[in-house]
Amino acid sequence: MKVPLFDPKPQNRLLTDDLHQAFSDVLESGYFILGSEVERFERNIAEWHGVNHAIGVSSGTDALLIALMALQVGPGDEVILPSFTFFATAGVVHRLGARPIFADVCPASYQILPSEVERCLSPRTKAVIPVHLFGHSANVEEIRKVIGDRETFIVEDVAQAMGASRSGKKVGSLGDLGCLSFFPTKNLGGFGDGGMVLTCSDDLAETVKQLRNHGMFPKYYHRQVGGNFRLDAMQAALLNAKLPQVDSYLEGRDRHAKRYLEKLVQHPSISVAVPVDSSNCQVKHNNKQISIWAPYVCPDQVPTWNQFTVRIVSFGRGEDRRDSLRQWLLEREIGSEIYYPVALHKQECFRAEGEGVVLPHTECLCEEVLSLPVYPELEDSQIDYVIEQIFAWLDKEV
Ligand SMILES: *Cc1c(COP(=O)(O)O)cnc(C)c1O
Repeated sequence: MKVPLFDPKPQNRLLTDDLHQAFSDVLESGYFILGSEVERFERNIAEWHGVNHAIGVSSGTDALLIALMALQVGPGDEVILPSFTFFATAGVVHRLGARPIFADVCPASYQILPSEVERCLSPRTKAVIPVHLFGHSANVEEIRKVIGDRETFIVEDVAQAMGASRSGKKVGSLGDLGCLSFFPTKNLGGFGDGGMVLTCSDDLAETVKQLRNHGMFPKYYHRQVGGNFRLDAMQAALLNAKLPQVDSYLEGRDRHAKRYLEKLVQHPSISVAVPVDSSNCQVKHNNKQISIWAPYVCPDQVPTWNQFTVRIVSFGRGEDRRDSLRQWLLEREIGSEIYYPVALHKQECFRAEGEGVVLPHTECLCEEVLSLPVYPELEDSQIDYVIEQIFAWLDKEV
């Protein structure tokens, strides 16, 4: 049985007629950049998130970049972010001449620790970027408390977590700005690159709108330097056609994750990692040579399972056990991926920023994590096959 890590075709096939119609409408209109389709998509996304403004942009990366530009992040500023995330989160900070400050994450939930934000704060901290990693949510409320009344902004990286919520509020609506991505593998997967900036602030929304179009306002007058970060009408029209289905996509991911969680822990070497106290987030160990930790769901949140990520913990043998499981699955036609094998503070391009930085949880995770197939259109039998093969590997190993 084949179980790919991801396949966009079955999802899009179900909407073939609607997508063809959306394509023809835009083709016929002759209007291909921004315009009414983009505005309609922006209204839909703003309403869905309960925010005042959504501004369509060219990618999730560009959403982060413009969000920071709107806050005037630049040389001399520091931006705190988790080291355990996709490169873009730190790349945009560096590109603006500011310094990324790398924080450690919780070993159970994989999210940035508020206590780490506190440790990294300085008078130069212009912003914090909590990343809602793997579709779960970072504790923005606690981070807000830690920041207190400093002039430090919160830019949420929602690329992997559209639809997740915390205390009943959707992520992306919790900080000063929220950044979405419509990269094809994300919760609302597009047909190329696309992104969105969310905010409740009228001023920030206006600035973001100008920045995405060369900082132009009014036409051919520039008070600030922006770029071409516009969203295409075609992309917006196709995403408008898909948006009504997004809740069903999230339900599919949720069904698979629950199935994994329920069945995986029936194996004696698999358990859910539970933080024993919130300040230092230790994880209960069992005494086996090799164990697998299933992902922990923080209370008071609804995750969206953009990834289903387990840890392969083996005392003394590190990443070769994780790589052995990955190879075993691959030989059985099961896709998996390592998000992420190298912490950002260890990346060559961040030699200067990462020098002397030690983040024990992040460094451990990079050697131990493995993400399993969880996209909505998988069959239950495919999930069962993955579980069966993980059990078979464990029984061979322990
Ligand atoms: C995908 C992703 C991005 C970037 O989004 P793109 O649309 O690919 O530019 C940023 N941050 C995180 C955490 C991501 O997963």
